[in-house]
Amino acid sequence: MTHTKSSAFAEVNEKVAQAGEILGLKSGVVKALSSCEREVVISIPLRRGDDVDVLTGYRVQHSSARGPRKGGIRFHQDVDLDDVRALASLMTWKTALIDVPFGGAKGGVAVDPSKLTSIEKEEIIRRWTRSLVHVLGHHRDIPAPDMGTDAKSMAWLMDEFHRLEGFQPACVTGKPVELFGAAGREEATGRGVAMIAAATLKENKIKVEGATVAIQGFGNVGRYAALVCQELGMKVIALSDMSGGIVDKKGIDIKAIFNVASLADVKSDNRIGSADVLEIECDVLIPAALGNVINDSNVDKIKAAFVVEGANQPTSTSADRKLRANSIVVVPDILANSGGVMGSYFEWTQNIQQFSWPIEKFRGELDVRMQKAFVNVNETATKYNTDLRSAAFILAVERVANAFSQRGSL
Ligand code: NAD
Repeated sequence: MTHTKSSAFAEVNEKVAQAGEILGLKSGVVKALSSCEREVVISIPLRRGDDVDVLTGYRVQHSSARGPRKGGIRFHQDVDLDDVRALASLMTWKTALIDVPFGGAKGGVAVDPSKLTSIEKEEIIRRWTRSLVHVLGHHRDIPAPDMGTDAKSMAWLMDEFHRLEGFQPACVTGKPVELFGAAGREEATGRGVAMIAAATLKENKIKVEGATVAIQGFGNVGRYAALVCQELGMKVIALSDMSGGIVDKKGIDIKAIFNVASLADVKSDNRIGSADVLEIECDVLIPAALGNVINDSNVDKIKAAFVVEGANQPTSTSADRKLRANSIVVVPDILANSGGVMGSYFEWTQNIQQFSWPIEKFRGELDVRMQKAFVNVNETATKYNTDLRSAAFILAVERVANAFSQRGSL
């Protein structure tokens, strides 16, 4: 399920307005931070047999106040302009929160990726790039993978960009390691989610070793989050993907199943539905698939002590309120899944310098910076006596508002 239309961007802007009020920002500044700098909607003709299908594609650039815009490209049948605006705006807050020199953007194509051949997917990415090349580039706007796209898609994007504009590997991140990608980038989002889960347990005086974890989503984010949670000593007791879920209270061996195409291929005596994983009793629940999966219909059935948001906007605003009322700590998406854009920042700097880091350096830098962001958000929550999501927005909105004002906009 995705957000009810027209609500996702409004939900982000509600947090921006709340942070603006706490920080005493002028109403015009809040209005600017709640608007997108540029929105481009394109049509993508796709040959299907002897006819043509016409898809809708998007690139929304929310802010460049702190640097070139940055954000992934999502392929999903429910993608629409409101979704992309919301996700672009979240990127602005995420990049500011972790203090990397980027703004925020997001792209998408309304198409079901599971129904595309590899050739069709390549054609869509190339057409998307050709139509948008005038607003892209390593110092303008740098795409990356998101749901339904991957390293291969980013290689096609880079190749198309090079044909049009010449060599510029930093024009996109999340590329294959052999093609100007960075060792460590693929795992970075999931790794960051797991590091933040461990930091949250420690902050709340709960032992990481043996803490139980349930994860929805076994794609890029969920898979690596599960693997690193296991490496850190946690016990992953439930997993689900589009095909359904599996439960093993003794702990699922993630290393053993890491490369399966889908969880349907995993042998299990205890199968559950895709959404049931959210209601498992555990220490840490990691939604790492779609948006709006924790909502009014299931919020009272959530039995985790902590929700660490691997996906973007997995919790509706009213469910977020109820979780807090039920004493469940929610670690917000803009902190929990920011390892992805942190990793993209490392890839971008390496491409610009034509220099590559060993994976140990990548992981070390990621871990230190994620920990720093976690501490900053917790300190802000204490300072303003507020929850972690509000604190994350206060920190991020303050940084972007300062940049916006210092640039001379106000
Ligand atoms: P992905 O396409 O690699 O994987 C998505 C996973 O979700 C798959 O396992 C799929 O089977 C599962 N899924 C889809 N529908 C489901 C359903 N109804 N129930 C249960 N599982 C379902 O996508 P991803 O890159 O892992 O992204 C997941 C989420 O994380 C998205 O919200 C994305 O915006 C966010 N995110 C991704 C990155 C990144 O670097 N990839 C960074 C930050 C945030």
